[in-house]
Amino acid sequence: MMVRSALLGASRSDRLRHTVERLPLTRTVVSRYVAGAEQSDAVRVAGELTGEGLAVTVDHLAEDTHDRSQATTVAQAYVSLLEALHKAELTPDVEVSVRLSALGRSLPADGEAIALENARQICQAAADAGTTVTLDMEEHTTVDSTLDVLRELRQDFPDVGAVLQARLKRTEADCRDLAQSGSRVRLCKGAYDEPESVAFRDRGEVDRSYVRCMKVLFAGDGYPMIATHDPRLVEIAGSLAARHRREQGSYEYQMLYGIRPREQRRLVRAGERVRVYVPYGPQWYAYLVRRLAERPADLAFLLRSVASSK
Ligand SMILES: Cc1cc2nc3c(=O)[nH]c(=O)nc-3n(C[C@H](O)[C@H](O)[C@H](O)COP(=O)(O)OP(=O)(O)OC[C@H]3O[C@@H](n4cnc5c(N)ncnc54)[C@H](O)[C@@H]3O)c2cc1C
Repeated sequence: MMVRSALLGASRSDRLRHTVERLPLTRTVVSRYVAGAEQSDAVRVAGELTGEGLAVTVDHLAEDTHDRSQATTVAQAYVSLLEALHKAELTPDVEVSVRLSALGRSLPADGEAIALENARQICQAAADAGTTVTLDMEEHTTVDSTLDVLRELRQDFPDVGAVLQARLKRTEADCRDLAQSGSRVRLCKGAYDEPESVAFRDRGEVDRSYVRCMKVLFAGDGYPMIATHDPRLVEIAGSLAARHRREQGSYEYQMLYGIRPREQRRLVRAGERVRVYVPYGPQWYAYLVRRLAERPADLAFLLRSVASSK
């Protein structure tokens, strides 16, 4: 828990980021989790994965921005990515995941309106390309804002998906609100270090919350997206799908690029729909640190790479 908190703290350190992002780590631990720095890397990896029967959601890695023009640049990167995916005939099996803080939500005064406008542009480009968008979820302080933006977007783009984090105590109630027809909900444990006042801190409690949330989603009329690598939770999801007589394809599993790839393919062979979350872009530092916080053993690997690159 201490390592996790320290690493999540490091994910917000600008100095560390500048040092690490300049290191030539591309063939080491970074490339295990990130498709590459360029749009063409994302398109190539998406093509490889869909060729194996997997679906994909692509995330353009970008920092939280306090600069309006940077937020516009991120939105344009998504529009360009969606055009490239469409041209490569990879949609509709490939959609995109979007983080509102990268689209300007933290800008003073009208940040949320700017993020909404940028997200709307991306949703329009996704619709034109024949695919969908999912709004990633960030720290607990942003949940209400993200759900407000989701409601706005769904008026014009009903298939925009949301992410809910089982770590948060409010999430079971949010699942009830969102388990409606046409609603796509990605359920994950939650990657952020949250205070006890709003979140479960114990792993067992997070897992039990995850199961309660899955029960709500599978019993509802929406489209559950079960985002976890946890074998017990994957098994329980399978039992819940059977109990609710859900056909394969009326829900899906989701896992991150580079994590449990054999399990991803095993589920596909069993006839399940599995979507891989593929991040790309030069700003991979915070994403990588969140992954290392979940698997500190990889940290030793990263440090060895840093040492040998000097
Ligand atoms: C598709 C997808 C989208 C996500 N979107 C969001 C989001 O929008 N917001 C958010 O807060 N979080 C998001 N997450 C991250 C999520 O909240 C968790 O932090 C992350 O998935 C780890 O939790 P877990 O359920 O896999 O369980 P854990 O208990 O962390 O892991 C279970 C098992 O998975 C394996 N595993 C886990 N991590 C690794 C690793 N790094 N390397 C190798 N094996 C590993 C291990 O076998 C481990 O025992 C997303 C996750 C996925 C899969």
